[in-house]
Amino acid sequence: MKITDIEVHVLVSPGFRADGTSSSQDDIVVVVHTDEGITGIGETDTGPWVAKAAIEAPGTHTMDLCMKDLLMGEDPFDTSALWEKLYTFTCMTGRRGAVISAMGALDMALWDIKGKAVGRPCYKLLGGAHVDHLTPYASLQPYGSTVDEYGSSLVEWAGKAKDYGYKAAKLECTLAGPYNHSGLKGTDEQATEIVRACREAVGPDFTLMVDVQYLWFDAESCLRTVRKWDDLDLFFLETPLRVDNLEGYEILTREAPMRIALGEWQNTRFEFSELMDKGVQVVQPDVGRIGGLTEAMRVCQMAQDRGRLVVPHCWKTGIGIAASAHMAAAIPNCPFIEFLPAEMCDSHLRRELVSEPLVMENGVIPLPDKPGLGIELNRDALERYAWKP
Ligand SMILES: [Mg+2]
Repeated sequence: MKITDIEVHVLVSPGFRADGTSSSQDDIVVVVHTDEGITGIGETDTGPWVAKAAIEAPGTHTMDLCMKDLLMGEDPFDTSALWEKLYTFTCMTGRRGAVISAMGALDMALWDIKGKAVGRPCYKLLGGAHVDHLTPYASLQPYGSTVDEYGSSLVEWAGKAKDYGYKAAKLECTLAGPYNHSGLKGTDEQATEIVRACREAVGPDFTLMVDVQYLWFDAESCLRTVRKWDDLDLFFLETPLRVDNLEGYEILTREAPMRIALGEWQNTRFEFSELMDKGVQVVQPDVGRIGGLTEAMRVCQMAQDRGRLVVPHCWKTGIGIAASAHMAAAIPNCPFIEFLPAEMCDSHLRRELVSEPLVMENGVIPLPDKPGLGIELNRDALERYAWKP
């Protein structure tokens, strides 16, 4: 089998908000074609215009070649060899960031092709399932233009998630910091009150995580607040410090009263080994961004070897969710996957891009059983939401 063409689509959800923090407002989707008529689908969670350029831009020397050209004529079954080829011959511009994220979309599509070619779901090709279902957690993104409104909305969402059948939810509690919700300027004390109110609303038998989206500059400021959260039984605290403050993360992993989760923006095993060396207890690979299923499985193995948990980041469409689910099924150290049913999401892309996406039944997600990633691209939606300059 040979790769014959690669389509790259940039999509935008209508009514997007430039002051929002949801990356599901845009998307890049790749469709890889083969000479046997089998096509593979992939996506990645990064700036889609940059990622498109990373795939299609020409190059003039062996340290910086065109990714699309590098894949033409290759056998899609050679995922590991092709990962190395792409990494090596884009290395001067690539290694991290958008080029690796774009590679992730391509790698995801190759795994989809492999599964479709042999008629088996991707997780079977990744070594088989360690579980008979996946446990989703709901990422709650509250509304509100004041701290009070935001807090009430979050408490309401937490209750709704429980009623919906979830056993776990993540509170986006971003009252301040670089990615603060709608310009809110809340205090750490207010954040403590809100997290406490959410715990009281859902009761003790419900897993809660908190995401503060890179709120604090230094470990001491973070610890001053999160030590007060000790009795709230939080499963993890996500991205409390700025992304590159690894020294600070090292302090938190020793001293915070809950697990520290990090990794949604990181690329490749090289960045994840740094996180794990600093003691991060929960790693959060995004399958597209980390460099595809090939690289994600390497990182999951590293986490398993070090006794760490994997709770994947996934906030795009049914494509990335499917990839995330296959990865999660194929490892023994993934207690939850990030999953919000399409009907609970604002993004048209999340709701419409994939027909028959994975669904939640009685609080769990049954393993996907169709070949490859097991999803169908809705070509009408692809056309409808295509970015038109
Ligand atoms: Mg996050």
